[in-house]
This record gives sequence, C-alpha cells and structure tokens, in this order.
Amino acid sequence: MKTTINVSFCAIHCIQRTPHSDLIEAGASTFASAGKKPLSLLAISLCFSIIGAGVALGEGAFYGDPPSDTHPWAIHDLNRPQPPRVEPGTPSTQELSGKPPSDAIILFDGTPKSIAKWESVKEPRQPAPWKVENGVLQVVPGSGDIGTLEAFGDCQFHIEWSAPTGVNGSSQARSNSGVFFAGGVEVQILDNYDNPTSPDGFAGSVYGVNPPHANPLHPPGQWQVYDIIFRRPVFKDGKMLDGGRLTVTVNGVVVQDSTPLEGGGGHKSRSKDRPFPETGPLKLQDHGNPIRFRNIWYRTLPKRAVEGGDIGAMDPAAATSKKLEIANNIRLDAETKQGDERLLRLMESLCYATDAATIQTIETDLAKWTKAAKDTPPNEMEAKKESIMKMFRAVRYLTKFGFYPDAGDCKPVLMQIVLSNGWDPR
Ligand code: MG
Repeated sequence: MKTTINVSFCAIHCIQRTPHSDLIEAGASTFASAGKKPLSLLAISLCFSIIGAGVALGEGAFYGDPPSDTHPWAIHDLNRPQPPRVEPGTPSTQELSGKPPSDAIILFDGTPKSIAKWESVKEPRQPAPWKVENGVLQVVPGSGDIGTLEAFGDCQFHIEWSAPTGVNGSSQARSNSGVFFAGGVEVQILDNYDNPTSPDGFAGSVYGVNPPHANPLHPPGQWQVYDIIFRRPVFKDGKMLDGGRLTVTVNGVVVQDSTPLEGGGGHKSRSKDRPFPETGPLKLQDHGNPIRFRNIWYRTLPKRAVEGGDIGAMDPAAATSKKLEIANNIRLDAETKQGDERLLRLMESLCYATDAATIQTIETDLAKWTKAAKDTPPNEMEAKKESIMKMFRAVRYLTKFGFYPDAGDCKPVLMQIVLSNGWDPR
C-alpha cells in the first residue's frame, strides 16, 4: 500500500513539475485517439526522448538511478540486502539495569560469570582483580586496569558507571576512570558534577583531544550512561585513509559528534595521527578510585568502504568488483525463474555488469517476446497490459542509461503497442 501511495504521489508530482508532461499527455492522447493505427517512428522516438528526460516510474528494478562508478547499488535497489533484524533493548533506570539489544556481545551483566571475560592488564591471563558484588563491578584501587580477553575493533559500546557519594579529591583526582579502545584512545570517566578540571580531561572527553560539548552528569552516587561509537583510524601503506572518530552520548546527550581522533590523545603531550590495530582489547582504568560499573555491552559495526566494506561511496575498483558480484548473483537467480521473470532479471543484471553471453540471450529472447506482444490479438491485449508495460519500462530504462543501447526494433515496437492502446507510458 505504501508503495502505491508513493508511486501515485510521484506520478502527480511529476505531472505538476515536468515541463514536458502536458506534451506527453497530449501526445499520448493524440496517439491513442488515432484509431490504434501504426505510429510514425519519428513520433515514437520523440515521445521516448521526452519521457526518458522527464518521467520515470516503475516498481522494484528499473526504478531509481542505476549504480554508478562509486556506488554499486541503484537508488532504491531491492537487490541490496535487507538490514538484519535486531530486537531492541530497554533503557536503564537508576534502580534497574536495562536490557541490551539482541545482537550485543555482553561484557558485563552483573554475574560473576561475565567478569571471566576480563583479565588483569598488569598480569595478563590472570583474572580481573576487581570486585563483583550485588550485580556491580567495582574498581579495587591499586589493582590495575582490566581488559577484555577478546579483541574488538569498530563498535557501538555501552557502559554505565557510578562515582562514590563521599566526595574526595578534586579535578582529575575525583573519581577518575576511563574506557580505552583499541590502540589506546580514552573516553574519560570522571565525577565532574561539581568539579572543574581541564576541559579535555572532562567526563565524556576524548582525553587530551577534545572536551565534551556539555556536562550532563548526574550527581555522584547515581548511574551515568555512556553510549560510544568508535571508528578506529585506518592506514594503508603508511597513508591515512580515515583518521578515525568517536561519537559519545552521556545520559542521552551528545557530547562528542564524530570527533576526529588525532592520534587518540594522551597525557601532557599532543598526539599525532597514527595507525591503530584493527582490533584490540577494551580496557577499563583503575585510577585509584572505587568507581562502580554495570551493563557493559558491545556491538560490532560494519566495515567502512576504505577498509573493504560497502557503506557509502567506494573506490571505483571496489565498486566494479561489487557490481560484478551483484550481476552474477542476479544471473544465478534468473536461472531459477522462467518466462518474463527470467528475461527481466537477465536484463536487470546489465545495470551492474555487462556480459556477452547474457546480452546474446536477451537479444534472442527479447526479440521473440516483442514479436509475440506485437502479434497479440486486440481482444487479448488488455490482459497483457501489465506484462507489456513492465517490459516496456525495462527496455526504456536500459536504453536511457546506456546499459543496452542495441535494443533494436524492440523499443519502438513496444512504444507503439503502449501508445496505440491508449496506455499511459509514464
Ligand atoms: Mg581516566
């Protein structure tokens, strides 16, 4: 139903805004009222170019702009994989820990079992020396940082922490901890509820790089919620392809918005852009304060185009390779189909990559198909309308974008059928 509404809106919109639309309607009406007689090739060609320039409608394939040199998918491409289903979690309250989303890797859920996923950083392969009590993980001051046994890369990371209520110390000495991502970049944990300090060492800062945009902390003793999106720097052959970035929300407030890592920051010294490992342990800092933690989880993020993923614009070589993969998959799918469906799938594959054998098959089958359509008795024509319109739009799309310029006689013949039956060619 939604598609129908959108298509209808689009049709109306196109008619309203397309300068050629009156001409198309007038032309179509004239052709249709011409007693369904053969049309001149000149008139058909004129109508084709007008429609091709201003109006394109359809469903599924042959609809939006086709793949480009750097984008392997068409606009609104139904060959693109559907997003995987994830059951959403529930938010935490001060009293109760929330539930992570269904695909999260749980790093601490309050059980003694989950602390087994962590180790001592001072003494690798030794158990994490922090305390688990009443479903809460607590820093044992002086015992050292803890790190995950498993290595992680780009991620969505969730952690909740709480500073002790007895306020001790000031500035960086008040309830300090931190989350370290692969390669060592720290998102600062600090009780800054009423505690001025160096802004680039504030709670929610990328430590030594960038202060948070705001201070939305609750008072000490309450739970603070950090949600962090980490994208590591990507280097190849010594050249930086992506400097990496961090996005952080503190208690639902954005405090870092795609902040460039600039090497990841550090204490006293200005850091420089540098490569990070693809993956590394997540670490929590023991800075000598008994910070408490709960509800720690992690979700893997898909690869960016610069590291071989297909998110966003790709380099032309990678896009070409992906388009070939898509074309081959469509051709394999075509072999599972018959009749119009098979022919249309083969035609669709040309939008991604050309192939001599496929073109030969299309040439033969489309010529037969078009002849059969042309020879359809007038009293059976209406029953074939949907099928003919679908093929007509596919041919128009492929020729418009140059994927199959040699559609031969098929294009004008199909147009003639459409117009002489009074069908709307849009
Ligand atoms: Mg810290």
